[in-house]
Amino acid sequence: MFSFGLNGFSDFLIFALIFVGIIVGYYYRQLKIQQESRLEFAEKNVLVVTAHPDDECMFFCPTILNLRRCSTSHLLCLSTGNYYKQGKIRRQELVSSCGILGIPSNHVTLVDHSSLPDDPQVEWNTKLVGRIIADHIKINRIEVVLTFDSYGVSGHTNHIAIYKALKRLNDEGLLESIAIYTLSSTNLLRKYISLLDLPLSAYSKHMFLSSPQQIVLAQKAMHAHRSQLVWFRKLYILFSRFMIINTLEELT
Ligand SMILES: [Zn+2]
Repeated sequence: MFSFGLNGFSDFLIFALIFVGIIVGYYYRQLKIQQESRLEFAEKNVLVVTAHPDDECMFFCPTILNLRRCSTSHLLCLSTGNYYKQGKIRRQELVSSCGILGIPSNHVTLVDHSSLPDDPQVEWNTKLVGRIIADHIKINRIEVVLTFDSYGVSGHTNHIAIYKALKRLNDEGLLESIAIYTLSSTNLLRKYISLLDLPLSAYSKHMFLSSPQQIVLAQKAMHAHRSQLVWFRKLYILFSRFMIINTLEELT
């Protein structure tokens, strides 16, 4: 019985090592492909629209870090993240995090509007959100906008409101010549299997994958959001595929 258990364990170990080897090999292959073919955002003025300080880090790091090589990035964050009355601290944390991710402080805009609180119970007025985004696009001559999709990765109503606002602007034809991309949400299992999600994500037309150096930068940027580093976020940054992989879809 003992010998059978030992063999079973060593078989499992060999299988696990082969599996990890395949995934790591596939990862480096995908990194190479990405470096050779990332042209759709090249030399563009790109705006990332988020709802809360730390969204840029928890969800958009792979995109922001890859865009840094080829385009100019701006960030528009639509609330101060004041749910636990930490808005002032979080403003500073956002600037620090963006600095690590390569977005200079003069390209970071934090909106502090009484009608746009950090609160999942409050439905943001999509007309107001749309107006703020449209003005920002115009002033900064933005060519590409990136934001959440209709589920908003975590289902947070503030994330979803941004998607609705941009969809409305797009449907009304108010963003002609602006390309809009949304960050694809995944199911719960895929969300927390980190790099193991790569074979599924690689099917996407627009995938951003972080290199090992970029993964370290993302972790560092998340640590800039010191007030948010409670235990479950520490687990999130270890296991979430959004810290390593982003897949985007163009909004048409
Ligand atoms: Zn958020």
